[in-house]
Amino acid sequence: MADAIDFTIEELGKRSIKSPIAMSTVRGDMIANYVTDDQFLRYNTEVKVGPQPPLKRSQIIECAGPREMIYFTPAHVHAGIVSCGGLCPGINDVIRSIVRCLWYRYGVKRISGIQYGYKGFLPEYQFGVTQLDPDKVDEIHKLGGTYLGSARGGGKEVGKIVDAIEQLNLNMLFTIGGDGTQHGTLDIADEIEKRHLKIALIGIPKTVDNDFSLIQKSFGFDTAVDKAVEVVAAAHMEARSAINGIGLVKVMGRESGFIAAHTALASHEVNFVLIPEVPFNLEGYNGFLTHLEKRIVSRHHAVIIVAEGAMQDQLITDKQLDAGGNLKYADVGTYLRDRITKYFAEKKIEINLKYIDPSYIIRSAPANPADSIYCERLGNAAVHAAMAGKTRLIIGLVNNEFVHLPIKTVISTRNHVDPEGNLWRDTLDATHQPALMVNQFGDGKAK
Ligand code: ATP
Ligand code: MG
Repeated sequence: MADAIDFTIEELGKRSIKSPIAMSTVRGDMIANYVTDDQFLRYNTEVKVGPQPPLKRSQIIECAGPREMIYFTPAHVHAGIVSCGGLCPGINDVIRSIVRCLWYRYGVKRISGIQYGYKGFLPEYQFGVTQLDPDKVDEIHKLGGTYLGSARGGGKEVGKIVDAIEQLNLNMLFTIGGDGTQHGTLDIADEIEKRHLKIALIGIPKTVDNDFSLIQKSFGFDTAVDKAVEVVAAAHMEARSAINGIGLVKVMGRESGFIAAHTALASHEVNFVLIPEVPFNLEGYNGFLTHLEKRIVSRHHAVIIVAEGAMQDQLITDKQLDAGGNLKYADVGTYLRDRITKYFAEKKIEINLKYIDPSYIIRSAPANPADSIYCERLGNAAVHAAMAGKTRLIIGLVNNEFVHLPIKTVISTRNHVDPEGNLWRDTLDATHQPALMVNQFGDGKAK
């Protein structure tokens, strides 16, 4: 599997300018801390005892960090930053870190913030660009949301976007956004190449769901779990204080149940975790409702976490897309609330169900310290990559190191909770929910 991965990073051209960054003053060896071009990280860290075959390019990833020789002359650089898609804790920390690294480390003084996502490039919206400097971004990490504003849509107007990039004379563009944004970044990079322009395109992966492939953890995820744990504590308290109380919490996770699983592991108050990767029946002898009833009869309260993407294969009837091209999901939270209420009403069992959907509270929260640190370092690594003339790459954390990953490789697949893996096994241990809530019938098939 690892053999097939393409980790090659593209560059705009020869690097012939000495970096203004002075490194290791302690050792007196000024180049000691530059990252060299032969510095790679093993992707698969499992090793076997005995002689090793030589590593292939598809098994090693380029390390991020400042290069001694850079591509762009700092005084000539005009950098752009754009944030697209939904909110996620930490976007402002990333913006701040990019601005400060460009300004203080490289002396780049022309930094433009594109407002409201890719739409900010389109003349018909007339959003204009905002000039960024360290003073302007000084306090923004304390705020949630995005200082630049964000939007869905506009990303497919590649010709117009590149026209605007040319008019602004940008040499580098930092795109903070998810899957859609990074597809858009590649389209922009293609158009830029067609026009023979030398502009570095650097993606900063934003997905609160933690579902970017290869990257061990996306920024904002840690804060999301923090916030979700607080909500679960409230749901648990409500449930314990009521007659047959049920706390139902919906968390983010369109295709991957990482937030749900981690929240259950952290809180230890969750009895059922329902995620997109693990199918389940609602009704039937081994269905979720049957197990919930058993729990209520024996313990008189229950807490359930459902990821927003659970059950979508059954709930979505007409496939509508939002402005970003994302499939509009049915609301599994209210659906479950109603089904649970109906089930117990028919059984004439009194329950008190409290449904909490904290998604927007979580998404718009400021980053916690762990995420702030992560975002600060992501932003710095993004600037070093751009100044070195690297392009079409995403900054990621792999095996606890910051690395350069080709955008096309990262967006080719998604990261999922492995139903056979140890994260899900530990989640089952923390909840005591049955391993599979699916009815098996005589023919061995689930119905
Ligand atoms: P989120 O995880 O919040 O959805 P996202 O980056 O995927 O983050 P979207 O709103 O889906 O956010 O997309 C952001 C931008 O990328 C939009 O401007 C959209 O037009 C553009 N975009 C989406 N999908 C594509 C695609 N396949 N190719 C090019 N551009 C795209
Ligand atoms: Mg999207």
